[in-house]
Amino acid sequence: MSVRMVLVGPPGAGKGTQAEAVTRKFGVPAVSTGAIFRAHTEAGDELGRLADSFTSRGELVPDEVTDRMVEARLDQPDAAGGFLLDGYPRNLHQVASLDAMLARRGTALDVVLEITADEEAVVGRLLGRAAQEGRKDDTEKVIRHRIALYHETTEPLIAEYRSRGVLVSVDGIGGIDEVASRVCDALDAYLESR
Ligand code: AMP
Repeated sequence: MSVRMVLVGPPGAGKGTQAEAVTRKFGVPAVSTGAIFRAHTEAGDELGRLADSFTSRGELVPDEVTDRMVEARLDQPDAAGGFLLDGYPRNLHQVASLDAMLARRGTALDVVLEITADEEAVVGRLLGRAAQEGRKDDTEKVIRHRIALYHETTEPLIAEYRSRGVLVSVDGIGGIDEVASRVCDALDAYLESR
């Protein structure tokens, strides 16, 4: 099924995990800007060094850099029949950039999936992940900053997409499979109702 989706939610809400379930269900690739930045940083290339100077502090990588990277990724053949963007757009400027990118390709977003989660639950999850994966941006100080930035710059997106009538919100607290079935049911109901 060709479906163009955005996944949004606070850091630690389980977006990456749920993205896997959604991409399996719809057969579209997950495009995680955070994961692409981390891959470049591990490769030690120029984009990776630039991204790391922002990601390690929990700041957003500049829009021009991020927008260009996403546009190039959406031009890969596997994204022609749909995609799930995880972690992009993250501010209203990126919403406008994505609108323009899709308009240039004669397409539009089908649905924006919001995964909600209580703040203390996400901090606990992220500290647990820090212990397991050793991500540099999972220290408590940086985590708190990323959450504050989410409220300030990313949450306005949710109101924007809600007003467009494309927002589906799902409670992200619970077991992985339980949340995944909630997500799949909510997406099915929304897509069938259009
Ligand atoms: P994530 O894996 O989605 O938590 O992203 C990790 C980090 O990558 C973020 O804290 C930002 O520094 C950076 N990043 C990811 N997506 C974006 C974006 N859309 N715009 C700017 N920076 C981003």
